[in-house]
Amino acid sequence: MTDHDSVDHSSPCGSSGAGCAGGAPGPAPAAGTPGLGIFDKELLDRCISCGFCLPSCPTYALTGEETSSPRGRITLMRALETGDLAPDDPTLAEESSFCLGCRACETVCPAGVEYGQLLEQWRDHQWGGRDRPWIARVLMMLVSRPGLLRLQGLVRRHARGPGGKAGPRDATPAPSHPPNAPEQPVSLMLGCVERGLYPQVSRAVRRLCPEVDVPASQGCCGALHAHNGDSATGEKLARTLGGQLPGTILTTAGGCAAHLAHHLGRDRVRELSEYLDEREHRPAGQVTVDGRRARAALQDSCHLRNGLGVTRPPRELIAEVADYVELPGAGQCCGAAGTYALLRPADSRKVLDPKLTEVETADVDYVVALNPGCLRQLEQGLRRVRSRARAIHLAEFLALAAEPEPGRPDSGPGAADPREL
Ligand code: SF4
Ligand code: SF4
Repeated sequence: MTDHDSVDHSSPCGSSGAGCAGGAPGPAPAAGTPGLGIFDKELLDRCISCGFCLPSCPTYALTGEETSSPRGRITLMRALETGDLAPDDPTLAEESSFCLGCRACETVCPAGVEYGQLLEQWRDHQWGGRDRPWIARVLMMLVSRPGLLRLQGLVRRHARGPGGKAGPRDATPAPSHPPNAPEQPVSLMLGCVERGLYPQVSRAVRRLCPEVDVPASQGCCGALHAHNGDSATGEKLARTLGGQLPGTILTTAGGCAAHLAHHLGRDRVRELSEYLDEREHRPAGQVTVDGRRARAALQDSCHLRNGLGVTRPPRELIAEVADYVELPGAGQCCGAAGTYALLRPADSRKVLDPKLTEVETADVDYVVALNPGCLRQLEQGLRRVRSRARAIHLAEFLALAAEPEPGRPDSGPGAADPREL
């Protein structure tokens, strides 16, 4: 897999294909035009080529090339669907990979184009079988094998809290509930990446929301598969997980929330900030640095913001316990984008770098993330530029406010590390 600079864009669509005339958008195929069945034609035909989406697209901002914009990519999809571009055309391979899948284009589209769905269908075709990047293949294998997930058992038990073994909380489908618990059971999804890399996030949720159950047996939600060319397995895994987690599924990963909501229904799924908001949870305490209230910014989760429209709750929760600072690009992708940071590290860094500059300019102590991928991306970026700001997940941040390290007056970056709490 390459980064974008290494691809020849000598022609406007990087190809001699007839479907990509100049830099201008191609016309929508007439209704009834025969297609190859790669895409849902109704979704593809919705685009009216107005171009409203171009300014919102991070990859278009990087290159200024029509083919790297949402409209340009839809033109490529149409050319693929009608056969005007050969399936092995290099521009198709490049642009289906260069797209972050952030879905920022959906939020400004007047025609209701579901770009995220189109991208999944495109990658199903483009990345089928051996054409899938090997890193994505390895990750998908790791998260979809229950046996391999069980190898994370030590970490998972740590995430599920003291005792480690399945207790009454794990009993399904009739777990016991504390007196003030909601009627509907709430099951915490541990997340296959998060339980391995950031088990402290689930521990923090348990402290914030003691009413939640943590079922012992839970697999991957399938978002990784859906975003990497295997949407059928992505749907299957989502439905299996829906059967394993009774009631409302509570997740600390915006990307997983959007994927599960798509397949299980919006009512089944809540991301942490919206769950706390709906329950009118008021976080206790405050996060301090050098005896003052901490300054904290937010990095939105793209799929939470652009797919589910959740933006207010995390900001309000942070503002309860710290001085909230809105970064100009808080709503723009950080470049993590699932496997993107691994598949296209140079492009991922280009997307992230302006955000790191914003963090330094804002002089914040913390940048709060709502997704393990964003958290990792911010951690690595802030470390690279030797920033004093620390990336932290919302759950940890709220738990840190409620329970600063005993004997330490400060909870800031130079003091307690919430991961040790
Ligand atoms: S805003 Fe929507 S309809 Fe307009 S070009 Fe972009 S995807 Fe197509
Ligand atoms: S998903 Fe993001 S990167 Fe891809 S076309 Fe839409 S705005 Fe651009």
